[in-house]
Amino acid sequence: MAAAVASASTAGVQLPERVVFKTEPETDDVTSPDLGAVVKRDPVVTLISPLSGIQPVTWAQDHRIAVSTTGAVALIELACDVHSNKHDMTMHRTSIPVRQDVLQLQVGPAHELAKAKDKFSSHPDPTINQAFMADRVINPHVGIHRGVKYTSWSPLGCDASGRCLLAILTLDQRLTVHNSVKRLEWNMLADLTDSYSRRLAARGYARKDVVVGDDDSAPRPAAADLLDLEELRRRFRMQTPLRMEWSSVYTVKHLAADHACREAEMALLAVLMENGDLVLWQFDLPFVAGGQPAVYDVIESGVPGATGVAWWEHEGGDRRMSGLIVGSEAGPVTIVPVNMARVKGYFTLRKPVVLWPEADRIPAENIRCVPVFHPVRKTDCSLVLASRGCHVFWCLLMISPAGLNVLNAHVPAAHPLPIVSLAATRHGGVAVYACSMDGAVTKLSPRFAADATVAFSQEDVLPPDAFPGRRTLAVAVSPNGAYLALANTQGVVGGCHPVEKTYQVNFVSLKTTETAAALLLKSPAQSLYRMADLLDLVRWKVVRDKAVPPGLMDEVDGRIRASDSAYFWRFKLFLLRMLSLSLQTEPADPRWKPSHEHSKAFLADEDEDEEEEEEEEEEAAAAAAGEDGEDGRTRKWVKVEDAGQRMTELKAEMKVVETHLIREHMKKVLGDVYLNIWSAVNTSIPTCGLVDYLSEEPGDRAAEVLIGHIKKKMQKQKFPERCSLCVEVLPFSDYKQTVCKNGHIWQRCVLSYQSCQALTFKRCLLLDSVAAEPEEDAPEWIKKILKGPCPYCDSPMI
Ligand SMILES: [Zn+2]
Ligand SMILES: [Zn+2]
Repeated sequence: MAAAVASASTAGVQLPERVVFKTEPETDDVTSPDLGAVVKRDPVVTLISPLSGIQPVTWAQDHRIAVSTTGAVALIELACDVHSNKHDMTMHRTSIPVRQDVLQLQVGPAHELAKAKDKFSSHPDPTINQAFMADRVINPHVGIHRGVKYTSWSPLGCDASGRCLLAILTLDQRLTVHNSVKRLEWNMLADLTDSYSRRLAARGYARKDVVVGDDDSAPRPAAADLLDLEELRRRFRMQTPLRMEWSSVYTVKHLAADHACREAEMALLAVLMENGDLVLWQFDLPFVAGGQPAVYDVIESGVPGATGVAWWEHEGGDRRMSGLIVGSEAGPVTIVPVNMARVKGYFTLRKPVVLWPEADRIPAENIRCVPVFHPVRKTDCSLVLASRGCHVFWCLLMISPAGLNVLNAHVPAAHPLPIVSLAATRHGGVAVYACSMDGAVTKLSPRFAADATVAFSQEDVLPPDAFPGRRTLAVAVSPNGAYLALANTQGVVGGCHPVEKTYQVNFVSLKTTETAAALLLKSPAQSLYRMADLLDLVRWKVVRDKAVPPGLMDEVDGRIRASDSAYFWRFKLFLLRMLSLSLQTEPADPRWKPSHEHSKAFLADEDEDEEEEEEEEEEAAAAAAGEDGEDGRTRKWVKVEDAGQRMTELKAEMKVVETHLIREHMKKVLGDVYLNIWSAVNTSIPTCGLVDYLSEEPGDRAAEVLIGHIKKKMQKQKFPERCSLCVEVLPFSDYKQTVCKNGHIWQRCVLSYQSCQALTFKRCLLLDSVAAEPEEDAPEWIKKILKGPCPYCDSPMI
């Protein structure tokens, strides 16, 4: 067994006082990279109804957080706001209510079930009738037991706008899949419990192996009837979901109607049933309303008392494998093979792999699996983690030519109480956060020694009393490890439990701005949207200091010179935007402002108000006396002018960056136009307008070549856009909007540059641009252009 070392002497251990309160960390005492990183962030989200279910808080890759409560799934969307200079995190809240009708699972004909219920509820043997009556799955109407049991987020890119789908399991065993439409609305896309229930009914509730091999006729139904208590329980347990987890996005080949082989994307949702069965649902992507998930496979894992499931997805060079890790109440942890024959580039595991063999009666819960790179063996491997009592079980899986290498051990308890929640980050360095029952959060980081053994360093992130008087029920970590969300409730007050408890979600930052900036600079994803949690840490720092962290702008400029990638241009635009916002003391465009004649002093600090008044009077007097107003202003408005000057410079710089991003995007659009037209046709994209706009700035060789080719194809035809109100020509003088002769103003789509004259259009998540909705009969390539992310901020257009 490899060593599991608890090294309390790690550099990152902090004093509890530093940790708990939202204090501005002084820059001069930051010695370790993440020292002083753990700071409480506002706002605290108060929940309307009590928390419910297992692991009640989950954090999606699209920066949304689902919180399970008794009344609804409360959803919190973290936005890296580019329009506000407030220090708090910006969050948008929505919710999906729990259905009020109680679901009764179907196990056979209604009259047979009624007869069985009658028999067992009035059974003379109390061990039978009481156990029967107390079974909430069989008798969902007994007692009030409403709420959400578990939620699971799909990977990015599963819905039509490129965001995540949400699977919700309620306490009455209803498993549904939802997506969000626009900003506030949620749609139910599939009811998996209902679909599976029907499938089982059609099969006569037979076991899977009864059907397999029965190739000539309908499957044989189960032999026993409902009046057999074991059979009754079996039929309920085979369709009672315990947990569900999404796989990654897989590429599959499928044969189209014209016999052509096409590649498509899918994601699997693995549902662990109470009897240990794993039902795999296949979602063809993007999954939209009207789509019907199909059963990909049913795996009878045979694990008794299963507690949880997680995907094992190994990726090492060209060898990729998938399986499902199942934990059990008795202790063993096993990987069950999943048939991956249809998935491109994947191998199927030949037989189950036991990760922890001993039935030591310590349940394995909170199973997580993250990919790690072994720096000594120079190979990709997977790290499986599970909480077992107050210890963390870990297992390192390596695939070598000799076979699968399993290395396992436990990290001994840092705190004496059992672990309630385990969260792991896979991006931005592997870190595991274990939250014990007393609210203490410990960070575990794998350390690889030269002799290829693994040890975990432990670091106290939050002490037990970090939130005085509150009891933490679950933690979740943001996709890139920037924030930790803690769902908590009131503990004992004055020796008793309060009658009415309050439930909250608190946020704590886990990384310093320096670490966040370093991760942003070397991000392999090259998408600001994916990195929004780290970006929010940088935003917070810029707003607080009213300055970009020293050296960061130079670094970004250096990357731009080296690679000219749109990612770094967008990062620069973001920094400039935040800087200009932080320098403003009031909104640049207030809804209403008093009609002072001189409103130029909008940049002045509040304590300069008196000075300003004097200055205003003097200036007014000077103007009245007919003196040279410009000179007078230069002399007296030095202070304001400085700030004004800085702001003008920033605005100009932002304009340069925006124009660069737009020009690059225009070239991409024109390239698509060139590839997809054969002769001069009206494509709804203002091709000639784009050509003229790009020609205005000489010296761009790539643009000149492209323009030459396009002009040849267009054969001097113009296809001008026309105003839908007056049929006048809409000129292309500005990429943001267009005005016809009669003064009708239309916004231009930021993705295709056509004027948005329809009633509906899309906006990016951060609301800094608009895009047209594709028309029904538009060609695929135009639809593809209109599906792209916002060129300024990378976030999806919804
Ligand atoms: Zn008009
Ligand atoms: Zn945007």
